[in-house]
Amino acid sequence: MKIKKENPANKIQDLQFFGEYGGVNPSIADSSTFTYLAGNTMGDVFEGTRQGCYLYSRHTNPSNSYLGQAISEMEYTKGAILSASGMGAISSTILQICGSNDEIVSSRTIYGGTYAFMKNYLPKFQIKTSFVDTTKIDQIESAITKKTKMIFCETMSNPLLEVSDIYAISKLAKKHNILLVVDNTFTPMIFSPARMGADVVIHSLTKFINGTSDTVGGVICSNEEFISDLIDVNSGSAMLLGPVMDSMRSASILKNTRTLHLRMKKHSENAMYLASSFQKDGLKVMYPGLNSHPQHKMMTKNMNEGFGFGGIFVIDAKTKEQANLLMEEMQNSNLGYLAVSLGFYKTLFSAPGLSTSSEIPDEERAVMGLTDSLVRISIGIDHDIHRTYETMVKCMQKVKIL
Ligand SMILES: *Cc1c(COP(=O)(O)O)cnc(C)c1O
Repeated sequence: MKIKKENPANKIQDLQFFGEYGGVNPSIADSSTFTYLAGNTMGDVFEGTRQGCYLYSRHTNPSNSYLGQAISEMEYTKGAILSASGMGAISSTILQICGSNDEIVSSRTIYGGTYAFMKNYLPKFQIKTSFVDTTKIDQIESAITKKTKMIFCETMSNPLLEVSDIYAISKLAKKHNILLVVDNTFTPMIFSPARMGADVVIHSLTKFINGTSDTVGGVICSNEEFISDLIDVNSGSAMLLGPVMDSMRSASILKNTRTLHLRMKKHSENAMYLASSFQKDGLKVMYPGLNSHPQHKMMTKNMNEGFGFGGIFVIDAKTKEQANLLMEEMQNSNLGYLAVSLGFYKTLFSAPGLSTSSEIPDEERAVMGLTDSLVRISIGIDHDIHRTYETMVKCMQKVKIL
């Protein structure tokens, strides 16, 4: 008998926060600093001998704590630290774990900003990254050296939608006594990497979790020890690099987390409908929900029930020119926006080879199969997806892809 897993949607729904006057939403902490009744108490907080007091908003603040609690519940971790962007979360995590002469083994198909940070910025600190295909466990293992401190991957990679086997990678990380850091931005609720053995789970909140494309934001979820290290006043990167999220923003993002399960379900349902229809029409489509996807079986086994295979699919528009024409045509037909980012209520599309992944050098993109003719589509929560399909077909016929 299959044991029914606890569902991350329930974890958010079960939270009960009261506002200052009994409001159904928590009050916003509109203060950068917090008062103390006794001088001694403040000293103890700085020393780290007293916990649970707010001190200064760059450290922690009540609004960020509410959102942090919601996301750590969803991710099955003990704690979470908010940051003003996903890159703020990624860079702080890496600089907390790695120092001079340490090494990282990372997936080669990751978000362009993360790739650029590892490839171009970390060498300033003599931190070296080996980029491998993390869908191949033997490639990860052979890149691990005595200096390796962490393995980094995305649960579902950007933009090629490769799915990493977090169970297998975490086993390997434990065997070598190194940390596994997972960027779960593409698959909130769908995957729970911490439950599968990841030590740190990161999100860009900018995407599905917030879902309204009105702000950037990020979060780092982990155990109590790593979280308190991150905000240590003397040595914590989340404290000293200052990536903190503003209280007003965390309050607005918290409200959006409550509909995340409905949105993920709808995004996935729509993506599945379109990906399978276009595949039937003879187009080259990448989507983990399709049998043709190399990690389809593994994903089916490992994912949480009820949220589908995610809201993003990629089509090959044959040439770079046709990719650009198709996107312009789709925008003109009000199918969505020609814009980077993902997880919006309306469809967003971009050509990753020409935009968000352009940081990756040409020869490496060729090895990965990241060509200039790919169009990444983050499908919206369209009510009538058949209507969307018919309009999209017209656009594709016009630019001679179908
Ligand atoms: C967008 C994105 C990031 C970066 O997040 P920002 O909020 O833009 O800083 C990191 N990882 C993935 C997978 C992303 O899609």
